[in-house]
Amino acid sequence: MDCIFCKLANGEIPTNLVYEDENVAAFKDMNPATPHHILVVPKKHYSSLEDISLEEMGIMAEIHKAIRKVAEKEGFAKDGYRIINNCGNHGGQEVMHIHYHVLGGKKLTKLIAD
Ligand code: 5GP
Ligand code: ZN
Repeated sequence: MDCIFCKLANGEIPTNLVYEDENVAAFKDMNPATPHHILVVPKKHYSSLEDISLEEMGIMAEIHKAIRKVAEKEGFAKDGYRIINNCGNHGGQEVMHIHYHVLGGKKLTKLIAD
């Protein structure tokens, strides 16, 4: 499958992974919106949250566990951070491999939707 996040998460395209375990990988966003902007993704391809069956929802807990480890490792867990998942067209998703944006390193303005 020609998916850039599959390739980055599984080492097909070499990159510095911020975090990695059996099922999840994290790497820096190439166009950071905040001082720390990390993308956390499953190694298995799911196009979006809508592509994950109820039986496979355990991966969501793994992703959230990884997010906490990333925040701790990068040093912004204590100050806090924001997690964003853009889902599908109306959600503004551009890369169709589910990913969580983890944004840290500055106080963010309150935002629910634009
Ligand atoms: P989306 O709009 O789909 O929620 O977010 C996609 C994000 O992936 C964007 O913030 C964009 O900067 C990032 N991105 C797209 N292509 C690449 C890439 O090849 N490498 C990295 N590190 N980030 C990417
Ligand atoms: Zn993929």
